[in-house]
Amino acid sequence: MAFTIVTKNTVRERFPSAVRPDLWKDTEDKDWNNWIWQQQKRIKSMDVLEKVINVDADEHAAFAGSHEQFNMGITPYYASLMDKNDPNCPVRLQAVAKTGELKIVDTDMEDPLAEERDMPVPGITHRYPDRVLFYTTHNCPVYCRHCTRKRKVADPSSSAANKQLEEGLAYIEAHKEIRDVVISGGDPLSNSDERLEYILSRLRAIEHVQVFRIGTRNLVTLPQRITDNLARMLSKYHPVFIHTHFNHPKECTREAFDACAKLADAGCVINNQMVLLKGVNDDPKIVMELNHKLLMMRVRPYYIFQCDLSQGISHFRTPVETGLKIVQALRGWTSGMAVPHYVIDAPGGGGKIPILPNYVIKHEGKKWLLRNYKGLEFEYIEP
Ligand code: SF4
Repeated sequence: MAFTIVTKNTVRERFPSAVRPDLWKDTEDKDWNNWIWQQQKRIKSMDVLEKVINVDADEHAAFAGSHEQFNMGITPYYASLMDKNDPNCPVRLQAVAKTGELKIVDTDMEDPLAEERDMPVPGITHRYPDRVLFYTTHNCPVYCRHCTRKRKVADPSSSAANKQLEEGLAYIEAHKEIRDVVISGGDPLSNSDERLEYILSRLRAIEHVQVFRIGTRNLVTLPQRITDNLARMLSKYHPVFIHTHFNHPKECTREAFDACAKLADAGCVINNQMVLLKGVNDDPKIVMELNHKLLMMRVRPYYIFQCDLSQGISHFRTPVETGLKIVQALRGWTSGMAVPHYVIDAPGGGGKIPILPNYVIKHEGKKWLLRNYKGLEFEYIEP
């Protein structure tokens, strides 16, 4: 029997392309698809924002009160995902400030994860025995309103100069216990390919460094950044893990799909770290849809982070109970691959603590009484 192979790329076709707002409808494709053009044309002022969306009174007031502390920056691509008439659009909520951002509540902290405290040299956070965070830039294509590093991100005076970079590399080289380096920021893909390759090549030359992770939101906010050249360059330094940050199914576009495909084809392993945000993804159905889309994009849902205690993001915080309900609605009801770990990054530098619904009803000696995802009880007896 002859088998006819169906070559239609049906999964890719399920992902819609971003629709350009009128402001850029005459922009040439070569510009729109160019990451440097996208960076240069970022929306930074209310005048331009008003040409793209119908800005409401709350957003006007929030911009006036916030832009000096934490800039607005939105790539034309990410702006094209915003609903122009809906101030509660989940993409818009992440990119355009609300007045909730101006409130500092009692539990807020400037550096809730104590990243500065555990900094032996500028630009390195060394908290866990075998891994470090390495800050290489403080620029990001989009300044996310829920960012935990608002104190540094978007402040050009805090960016990692070459001297700081060298000190960081020297620290990693001198500490033989470091086997895993999380290259972070800001967004490390804001570095040029040349600077990034310099960093990767120096790290790869260190015998005790086994793996790198690149923490980037470019797949979500600037997928044009994933060029053939970048993918080729990364493939020289494997194993390279990419940790990205999709928060809503609206962000899973054809452009994002193609960017993930380029990295996956180049051999990178891609994990997603979603942050639980009120009004954006605090609903099990949304998280289920997001995780299913991510798997089709060859991205593994890895973490759901409880929104931390950074200043000015209390309006995004949900009760811990909301996260537990989401995990409960995923576990067993869909593939285990689509069920990330729900964690609280403990204030004060305690690290990530997993939070799980309770599936153990009783444990006595060798007997465990368990409940499954449907609430049915089962007994397991240890041999
Ligand atoms: S990409 Fe990450 S570091 Fe940059 S603003 Fe968004 S959350 Fe903050």
